[in-house]
Amino acid sequence: MFDKVLIANRGEIALRIHRACKEMGISTVAVHSTADADAMHVRLADESVCIGPPPAAKSYLNIPAIITAAEITKADAIHPGYGFLSENAKFAEIVEQHKMTFIGPKADHIKLMGDKIAAKKAVQKAGIPVVPGSDGGVSTDAEAKKVAKAVGYPLLVKAAAGGGGRGMKLVRQPEELADALAAARAEARAAFGDESVYLERFLERPRHIEIQIIADSHGNVVHLGERDCSLQRRHQKVLEEAPSPALNAAERMKIGKTTADAIAKLGYLGLGTVEYLYENGEFYFIEMNTRLQVEHPVTEMITGLDLVREQIRIAHGEPLPFTQEDVELSGHSIECRINAENPKTFAPSPGAITSFHSPGGLGVRLDSAIYAGYKIPPYYDSLIGKLIVHGRDRNECMMRLRRALGETVVGGIETTIPLFQRLVTEPDVLNGEYHINWLEAYLKGDA
Ligand code: ADP
Repeated sequence: MFDKVLIANRGEIALRIHRACKEMGISTVAVHSTADADAMHVRLADESVCIGPPPAAKSYLNIPAIITAAEITKADAIHPGYGFLSENAKFAEIVEQHKMTFIGPKADHIKLMGDKIAAKKAVQKAGIPVVPGSDGGVSTDAEAKKVAKAVGYPLLVKAAAGGGGRGMKLVRQPEELADALAAARAEARAAFGDESVYLERFLERPRHIEIQIIADSHGNVVHLGERDCSLQRRHQKVLEEAPSPALNAAERMKIGKTTADAIAKLGYLGLGTVEYLYENGEFYFIEMNTRLQVEHPVTEMITGLDLVREQIRIAHGEPLPFTQEDVELSGHSIECRINAENPKTFAPSPGAITSFHSPGGLGVRLDSAIYAGYKIPPYYDSLIGKLIVHGRDRNECMMRLRRALGETVVGGIETTIPLFQRLVTEPDVLNGEYHINWLEAYLKGDA
């Protein structure tokens, strides 16, 4: 096994990776910006290296500084976490060139899935169902018009290099197509330096259901069930659960097997998530994330597996210690992403945490790097913790979540906890009857 892993991230996920390493007897190196010198991941790591000033471009995205930190501390491997450099194929290549292991998939797969047109083509060929749309990119307005007619309205213009919903435009009528194409191309060029776009049929009320995949370097690919992440605001997931209240056991096994078989054909390595929209009993691929996901804990809670440990073992070349038949999905789990934000306006609320009390008890897990006296810097993502609960069934899980939310105290700043306290009493949420546009409508007062 590796002796030492450098964790190229911050916050709760840096701590999550540190915890897995410690349990495996691996030493950890934290890297941090000057704004994070007092962060918990820095305090708990065996060693730490300051890699630059607060802006992420100069620290957590600073490849030469991170590689240098790994070399001077003699780390064997680098774990990128999520966000930052986790889906940067160039970074994965550079790590390997420096004779260290990138804990993640091969650079070629990161590259492939980062190009949404190429990704869609590749997974479709491997047997995954996709959203009906253009067969690849559309380059001219005339071509788009022809394809749009075949796809049907309403449709979406999407950026090949897309991310975070940027470069995506909804077109309800043929007359709107030309403007939407121009807007999507301009947005994509500004955000990603690539103006390629493609067309896709717009689904009105789908759910977001994703399949967790794990693949080793010995040809074993296992699926670990699904996560329902339909409660979203501005295309950002807010609450996730496993299993999905919308699927039955047969549907679950079918989409899991379809996904795992396709991933095996692609020769994928490590953890991966295949994201689908689900409507009227059909699954439609939207993208594959080639990294550890924020919401991985709900899968851990229902499988009993430590996904970060397995990810590290796979990167080291070990075979998976379980087969598909060994995987048992047990009970129900829900995760709430707690952000340092006003729960109504979602304005960021950085600053000092004056008091803190963690919820606890059976089936309650808090993944967070905050502590009383910690000062949340204003430079990064506002996620400060994830409250994850597990129950024998969805009902017990909900009761436990309500109880745990009521126990949590984070003083001195605003958090999204009050939003979750409202959500866990909403009939649609309690009944599992929601879709990807439900939360936005609810926040506007018309759900
Ligand atoms: P990005 O990479 O920009 O996040 P995605 O393709 O993952 O783009 O889409 C982001 C979100 O947009 C999805 O989670 C879903 O909410 C919505 N979306 C994407 N494609 C469609 C579609 N064909 N119909 C309806 N909604 C969609």
